[in-house]
Amino acid sequence: MAFIDLFKAFDSELTLKAKRDAYVSHLNRIYRNNLDKAKIQTIQGYARFTDDPEPTVEVNGRKVTAAHILIATGGQPSVLSDDEVPGASLGITSDGFFELETLPKRSVIVGAGYIAVEMAGILATLGSKTSLVVRQTGVLRNFDAFISANCTKELQNNGIDLWKNSQVKSVSKTDKGLEVTIVTKDPEKKNDEKISTIEEVECLLWAIGRQPNTSGLNIGSMGVDTDERGHIIVDEFQNTSRPGIYAVGDVCGKALLTPVAIAAGRKLAHRLFEGKKDSKLDYSSIPTVVFSHPPIGTVGLTEEEAINSNGKENVKIYKTSFTPMYHAITSRKSQCIMKLVCVGKEEKVVGLHMQGLGCDEMLQGFAVAIKMGATKADFDNTVAIHPTSSEEFVTMR
Ligand SMILES: Cc1cc2nc3c(=O)[nH]c(=O)nc-3n(C[C@H](O)[C@H](O)[C@H](O)COP(=O)(O)OP(=O)(O)OC[C@H]3O[C@@H](n4cnc5c(N)ncnc54)[C@H](O)[C@@H]3O)c2cc1C
Repeated sequence: MAFIDLFKAFDSELTLKAKRDAYVSHLNRIYRNNLDKAKIQTIQGYARFTDDPEPTVEVNGRKVTAAHILIATGGQPSVLSDDEVPGASLGITSDGFFELETLPKRSVIVGAGYIAVEMAGILATLGSKTSLVVRQTGVLRNFDAFISANCTKELQNNGIDLWKNSQVKSVSKTDKGLEVTIVTKDPEKKNDEKISTIEEVECLLWAIGRQPNTSGLNIGSMGVDTDERGHIIVDEFQNTSRPGIYAVGDVCGKALLTPVAIAAGRKLAHRLFEGKKDSKLDYSSIPTVVFSHPPIGTVGLTEEEAINSNGKENVKIYKTSFTPMYHAITSRKSQCIMKLVCVGKEEKVVGLHMQGLGCDEMLQGFAVAIKMGATKADFDNTVAIHPTSSEEFVTMR
């Protein structure tokens, strides 16, 4: 039944988008109902702090104040101006991606982070001829090097045309679509530049980072400090520099993930309204999945981070790569790669990184074990589930 639904969804591209939009609206309604049920008053509009001495927020000309004010304004995609890259505004961002009504025949994605990787994967898998432009030699450079290298390879295995050491120089519009001019520099050779053009591009997508929504909030007048990129500076309890004003989520610039924003908000509510004075979110070992093809799961320290904080001699790495059994009957095969980063004599597992079929679903349980302080011996003492890919984590030598 699920498969039939999936094929119906692909029957027309508009149906797929319409169904997704309906699902999101449904979620919006659920959240709205939950707010109403909790008797929370919702004021719809753009909020900014006033210059009043006591923290006050103005929305649609109406002033609101409270003993506790929480800023959770999130972020937005970074964009380049047409002065920085002529024609840059002809492209879209991840927001525009969700507005696409039809599948672009030819797409160019710019960026090397997880949003660029996921969107390039979606477009290519649906059948758009996709190029990915990255400034250095690979994607996900802040992930473990093992994952970064493998994901870069998998993108190419998926037919994505990867432009390494490259940047968009200019964009222009023709009657056949966009022309994206790219400059590629050989890092080994000084002054070695190659200029190329990708023609007939229907979708140019900038995925070059995100910035916090703080510029219009007038938080400076409240004495709320921000860092050089505009993120609100908070302490471990989500307190800003102004008593009575707190911040959670992407606007703080740390672990930009939905469950992180939710968890930090919950902990803060427990502290402010339930008297749990020590309640705060522990930001260590937060599991993350990248919905690439195949997916990536990662939690804890990378090998490099573990070495930097513990010394090379105290770090032991276990890794494996294999072809999942699923691929025994497929012509195209993708590898599953796994790595455990262990520290100290007891080989405490401080990092776990993987890419392969099912890694998105595999991660959560391992993240519990790592949060509890599991050692390699604990992994080894757990009986394998056969035949699965996850059993490799408890049989690594
Ligand atoms: C393309 C993409 C894919 C992602 N995928 C994942 C994923 O798979 N898993 C995951 O965990 N996370 C994912 N994230 C990250 C996740 O969306 C964010 O971490 C999360 O939404 C942060 O929540 P938040 O409440 O801090 O901010 P947001 O969800 O951004 O909410 C902020 C809200 O405040 C509103 N706002 C801003 N300024 C004002 C103002 N002055 N007045 C009133 N309202 C204002 C905004 O309009 C917005 O509605 C993804 C993000 C992107 C962009």
